[in-house]
Amino acid sequence: MELESILLPGIETKRPVVIAGPCSAETEEQVMETAMQLSKKGIKIFRAGIWKPRTKPGGFEGIGETGLQWLQEVKKETGMYVTTEVATSKHVESALKAGMDLLWIGARTCANPFAMQEIADALQGVDIPVLVKNPVNPDLELWIGGMERLNNAGIKRLAAIHRGFSSYDKKIYRNLPQWHIPIELRRRIPELPILCDPSHIGGKRELIAPLCQQAMDLGFDGLIVESHCNPDKAWSDASQQITPDVLAYILNLLVIRKEKQTTENLNELRSQIDECDNSLIDILAKRMRISREIGTFKKEHGMTILQTGRYNEILEKRGAQAELCGMSAEFIKIIFEAIHEESVRQQMEIINK
Ligand code: PEP
Ligand code: MN
Repeated sequence: MELESILLPGIETKRPVVIAGPCSAETEEQVMETAMQLSKKGIKIFRAGIWKPRTKPGGFEGIGETGLQWLQEVKKETGMYVTTEVATSKHVESALKAGMDLLWIGARTCANPFAMQEIADALQGVDIPVLVKNPVNPDLELWIGGMERLNNAGIKRLAAIHRGFSSYDKKIYRNLPQWHIPIELRRRIPELPILCDPSHIGGKRELIAPLCQQAMDLGFDGLIVESHCNPDKAWSDASQQITPDVLAYILNLLVIRKEKQTTENLNELRSQIDECDNSLIDILAKRMRISREIGTFKKEHGMTILQTGRYNEILEKRGAQAELCGMSAEFIKIIFEAIHEESVRQQMEIINK
């Protein structure tokens, strides 16, 4: 990919580059109030979604073109750069006409090559920075492919946004970070800036700070964080938005280590361990849910909880499987005994209900 290193003039190269603003532009007052507060805290790039891709109809789908005027107002009053999400050629046209300084492309759009090509075609010959969120599914090639379409259309100021990947099961994160994917992106295209979106990864306020720190420890270049003057009253993504005050507090506490420090590899490996541990917890929770369903079935059919034949079968099968994977059967036996014990405890709860 042919890339330029400066995304925007005057933005310090000192990590992290920070983009902040509400999930959605709601009213002129909310946009202006949030922007003023963020600007006072030193934020230089303001985000607000005006066309919102919502999972289900009936939610707030964005204020539409009117919001572009509010963003122009933000630019005029605060001097901040402004950005919004585009998903169609019509959005691109309107956003460019309204003088947006950057554009971002959402996760659902990135997952669709037709949409990415349509946007790339609309941007042919335009010189504007474009930030591309990872697709909702964990597919690095699709992410890179989308950025390649833009690059082929002449977009040289590109950056990637890591916003996590969706999965079926309930979990700690709204979208699983799967850090190894942006890490591999960095290895493949080292000159491409990567920003982290802790808001959409975490889905809740208390995860914003640790995710920001983790992104910095991994050497990411920037952060895009949802910030709202009154988060509890937000019309979309209320649980993950933070006030400009809280954002400033989080940014102040960030430890920014120099890149290429020797601990960097260790941090990468540790984040992979964290990833594994999160998956372990998720999968155990899923197993327990199924186990409780079995408990209900046993109760309805008057069966005993302990079905010894089944338990022995599990222990034997998993022991042999573990040895094939380079672990001792004894170790797996201990783990499965503990899992079984918890399963039985959960089924007892069901039966005694
Ligand atoms: C957003 O940034 O508000 C948004 C819709 O994000 P994503 O595309 O990551 O879901
Ligand atoms: Mn959002």
